[in-house]
Amino acid sequence: TQRFIWPMAQFGQIINMYQRAHASAERIFGLMDEPDRLPVAPDATPLEIREGTVEYDDVTFGYDEDTAEPTVQNVDFTVDGGDTLALVGPTGAGKSTVLKLLLRLYDVDEGAIRIDGQDLREVTLPSLRRHIGYVGQDTFLFYGTVRENITYGTFDADESAIVEAAKAAEAHEFIANLPDGYGTMVGERGVKLSGGQRQRLSIARAVLKDPSILVLDEATSDVDTETEMLIQRSLDRLTADRTTFAIAHRLSTIKDADTIVVLEGGRIVERGTHEELLANGDLYAHLWGVQAGEIDELPEEFIERAAER
Ligand code: ATP
Repeated sequence: TQRFIWPMAQFGQIINMYQRAHASAERIFGLMDEPDRLPVAPDATPLEIREGTVEYDDVTFGYDEDTAEPTVQNVDFTVDGGDTLALVGPTGAGKSTVLKLLLRLYDVDEGAIRIDGQDLREVTLPSLRRHIGYVGQDTFLFYGTVRENITYGTFDADESAIVEAAKAAEAHEFIANLPDGYGTMVGERGVKLSGGQRQRLSIARAVLKDPSILVLDEATSDVDTETEMLIQRSLDRLTADRTTFAIAHRLSTIKDADTIVVLEGGRIVERGTHEELLANGDLYAHLWGVQAGEIDELPEEFIERAAER
């Protein structure tokens, strides 16, 4: 009878996996309530990753087709496999929206997004999301053990892989000190974890998932300097060989990015390396000046310009 039970169990697991992968992508950006209205291409094939090159080809998108101004307008860039692209810009500039499009939570209105030449609309959704990892400020922990929270979305992980991932994320030590170690219940009703601890669990989750493409949404939560150092070190390890998109609030964390794109009002207004953008003396240079404490506040002209866009 073993033979007959096994395929059924396997099938159940696949469904479960599909649902979890789907749920996690939506939770990433708190989109649980949004209807799934993406058309499925009848001839969609699984995404095949080669270099992990991501191309935004003149992308325009608006949440509401009736409003005059799209949220993202003519966004055009290519991130070579393994490189890091940072998105900076004022609140509401469209940074998260640009990345929601990569996860295909919405379809572009104009232009196209391609991963290694494959249009997102022509690959299957679970395969797309399987290859993209997310580390963010609002790490979703469900009521379950630390172990289950790390393996979330990865189904063939054995204990040693879980511990390795936790070590890479600088999370092993604090986990070992919890009352039941990896078996400790966390999430709602469970042991409360600090923001820095939750973030390291989400890094462990991403390490285990081993995606080719990473989306980092920098935490704004206050962590002490030592924790910040640990997080930075584990992130450096995680992003080393992967195509990475980073939304940064503190510019110091992204100054080594291969390319920094500055968004304002849904448009790219500047792009380059940190040094190039400083030399430009435009918005980025002034934002940097403010954060470095070199100038007190953003000059009026930039605030007015942002308001106009
Ligand atoms: P922040 O730095 O504050 O996170 P952001 O640059 O990431 O901002 P987005 O979150 O992409 O900006 O938002 C861009 C614009 O799109 C904002 O005006 C926002 O109100 C709007 N917006 C975001 N999500 C939705 C949604 N689900 N439906 C309608 N409008 C939305």
